[in-house]
Amino acid sequence: MRALAVALALAILSAPASAAVKPAAPAPATTEPNRCADDAGWDDPAVPRHVYGNTWYVGTCGISALLVTSKDGHVLIDAGTEAAASQVEANIRALGFRVEDIRAIVGSHAHSDHAGGLAKLQKDSGAPLYARASAVQPLSTGNADRSDPQLLALKPFPAVAHVETIDDGGHVRVGAIDLTAHATPGHTPGGSSWTWRECERDRCVDMAYVDSLSAVSDDVYRYSDDAAYVAAFRTTLTAVAALPCDVLVTPHPSASNLWARVPPVSSKPLIDAGACRAYALGATQRLDARLAKEAEAK
Ligand SMILES: [Zn+2]
Repeated sequence: MRALAVALALAILSAPASAAVKPAAPAPATTEPNRCADDAGWDDPAVPRHVYGNTWYVGTCGISALLVTSKDGHVLIDAGTEAAASQVEANIRALGFRVEDIRAIVGSHAHSDHAGGLAKLQKDSGAPLYARASAVQPLSTGNADRSDPQLLALKPFPAVAHVETIDDGGHVRVGAIDLTAHATPGHTPGGSSWTWRECERDRCVDMAYVDSLSAVSDDVYRYSDDAAYVAAFRTTLTAVAALPCDVLVTPHPSASNLWARVPPVSSKPLIDAGACRAYALGATQRLDARLAKEAEAK
């Protein structure tokens, strides 16, 4: 019975690889990557670029989107704003991949800057979106509820038609790609982070796409009124610090210094095994500062 349940779970989470996929080795990008600024706008165009192994950056200068590729199909991570969705698709095509070969979509959190383009990417690829249970409602309606600290400051985004639930520790598998889902509530209740392995020649690394960890809110919400939520946030920060994490990419590229770590700049190493620890530490200090400020204002 248990074996059957596992087999069913795998069948649900493994996207079909029936249709032919264009070979994974892409044509080299014809344009040199542009230099993106850390304060770039959400929709400022970026030239797509290689990150590591079969992972490619297909987002804008201001908002990340990654394509993890295989000969049996691809996984898209985040899709930028609604206005940037066509840029993400153009970036995928510029690298020699096909949007139609995306077999699964995953994301960080249900805010318009990262989820606004999901509906279009889903429509054009036919791929399901995998999200944690507490993100299903905002993703499938395009609207958050009061469990989101930023509720009153949020812009709605196009609803995603096909959302599949995935648990903490669950896997999204497409061909040789195997992404692990990590529950990272805090910035939003349904936030998720993702880890996977990538190899280049003889070096394999742990890739980590780690959700936003900023404790920001609208003018009404107070973190200190919700002890359980703050406790979950702290659990997230501890978990992020301990993630398998050689190459960190964040939904806002500047939060992980991405533009200093990839061409054409590369003044900082792409691979940094301490990156998730440092990211979690910075976020912990900002959460503590936020709680102190709320206590002062009381
Ligand atoms: Zn956000």
